[in-house]
Amino acid sequence: MADEPKTETPLVSLQGVNKYFGELHVLRDINLDIARGEVVVVVGPSGSGKSTLCRAINRLEPIEEGEIRIDGVPLPAEGKELARLRADVGMVFQSFNLFAHKTIVQNVTLGPTKVRKESAEAARKHAMELLERVGIASQADKYPAQLSGGQQQRVAIARALAMRPKVMLFDEPTSALDPEMVNEVLDVMTALASEGMTMVVVTHEMGFARRAGDRVVFMADGQIVEAAEPDTFFTNPTSDRAKDFLSKIL
Ligand code: ADP
Ligand code: MG
Repeated sequence: MADEPKTETPLVSLQGVNKYFGELHVLRDINLDIARGEVVVVVGPSGSGKSTLCRAINRLEPIEEGEIRIDGVPLPAEGKELARLRADVGMVFQSFNLFAHKTIVQNVTLGPTKVRKESAEAARKHAMELLERVGIASQADKYPAQLSGGQQQRVAIARALAMRPKVMLFDEPTSALDPEMVNEVLDVMTALASEGMTMVVVTHEMGFARRAGDRVVFMADGQIVEAAEPDTFFTNPTSDRAKDFLSKIL
């Protein structure tokens, strides 16, 4: 339409989100809208609330104040509707958390068959496509311990994608990996980003942030201090906190 700009519902929307751990005010008035297809990279010092933010987005952590919407629907505190909406949010953690006693392909089909009630056949077909996509198809019948850390993390990504999420959250997905395995995981994430997946990525990998990020969100003390396009953020941070942070990591 020429007369009116199209205003799309953000895929993820946080409005006035506050969270406490006892006395500790760990998320402070977080307002953040993430558009469909957007890749938001979250950076900030340790303890600034990045993991808590991710966990709040799929309600692994309850929030005391504010509202979180996924594709326009407010996340309820609990119940069936929460389980349904949570399935829209895939999450990949620093520790891959694969089931050790299940094969790679079983790790990927478990959620779809148990939670989404997909047939074993359909789930396996989809799982093999995803394992192909992350470059692990030939290892499908092995057990997690037989794979490298980088391979296991790629399986964890496939497992999250198997639930057909609308948004993927990555909380320091490469921090536990040996350096030579970091890129194989970042490459999968970069491909996912370029295919249009909506992503929230907590990472210290600034190369990835510049390459794949649409926006960098800088957190400190539970607040979003600064948000900007990656190039702007890295070359021209405005806050002293961000300048200090960047001087330590770059
Ligand atoms: P980041 O991921 O940026 O390092 P976190 O979100 O893990 O930060 O933690 C933010 C703050 O909340 C830290 O001070 C941390 O110690 C505290 N915190 C995190 N999880 C808990 C918890 N389950 N109980 C109490 N305090 C917590
Ligand atoms: Mg963290």
